[in-house]
Amino acid sequence: MINVEKLHKSFGDTEVLQDINTSIERGEVVTIIGPSGSGKSTFLRCLNLLEQPTSGQVFVNGEDLTNPHVNILNIRQQIGMVFQHFHLFPHMNVLDNLTYAPMTVKGESKAEANRKAEQLLSKVGLSEKVKAYPNSLSGGQKQRVAIARALAMEPDLMLFDEPTSALDPEMVKEVLDVIKDLAYSGMTMAVVTHEMGFAKEVADRIIFMDEGKIVEESDPKSFFEKPKTERAQSFLDKVL
Ligand code: ADP
Ligand code: MG
Repeated sequence: MINVEKLHKSFGDTEVLQDINTSIERGEVVTIIGPSGSGKSTFLRCLNLLEQPTSGQVFVNGEDLTNPHVNILNIRQQIGMVFQHFHLFPHMNVLDNLTYAPMTVKGESKAEANRKAEQLLSKVGLSEKVKAYPNSLSGGQKQRVAIARALAMEPDLMLFDEPTSALDPEMVKEVLDVIKDLAYSGMTMAVVTHEMGFAKEVADRIIFMDEGKIVEESDPKSFFEKPKTERAQSFLDKVL
């Protein structure tokens, strides 16, 4: 579904992604781990052109995002993204947060958008919060709304950038549980996370990044039990 070839990204003189080559198959769950500043967020953002690659190619369902003629809005509709800091629309209640894009971007009727939104809110355990405003919700609830909002666009692929890093510890599990359910339902996803337990349990594949490069890419068992590189070993020694 995603194919990344010779991707480079620089900000000014600083090359933050160097020769990234990888792919994500339909239905696959990939977790991306690595030290702070290693380029994980930039990599994820290149997958939906929130960052413009400096060179190289990113194919989504066969279409090259770096081709200037590609309809990026069309491709973004296929990709849901969930951020560390939720980014809900603060002036809209939960229901409107979920229905806004389906109605304005996809032209869904209000009735249809509402019906789907209510289903999704039930799925993330927030049916009673339809009329609540974001500032009245806990961090864990906000993030579950953000996930439901992304799903309301019926994406093919979900990108998560440290979805639990801004949460109080007692709220991490409720959000990871929602993400796990989604993973087990067959959604294709790329998850940047520091939750090693989650990565071990849910990922089909681990991508370990350091200093703008993919240093190691393997199944979770091999990665956590016997990493191939010293850099991955020393990272694991610090976080496990
Ligand atoms: P990670 O998510 O792994 O912590 P990032 O992708 O956020 O890493 O950042 C990788 C590097 O790129 C860091 O050195 C960061 O300071 C730099 N960087 C990220 N975004 C920008 C930007 N918009 N302008 C300049 N430098 C940036
Ligand atoms: Mg980051």
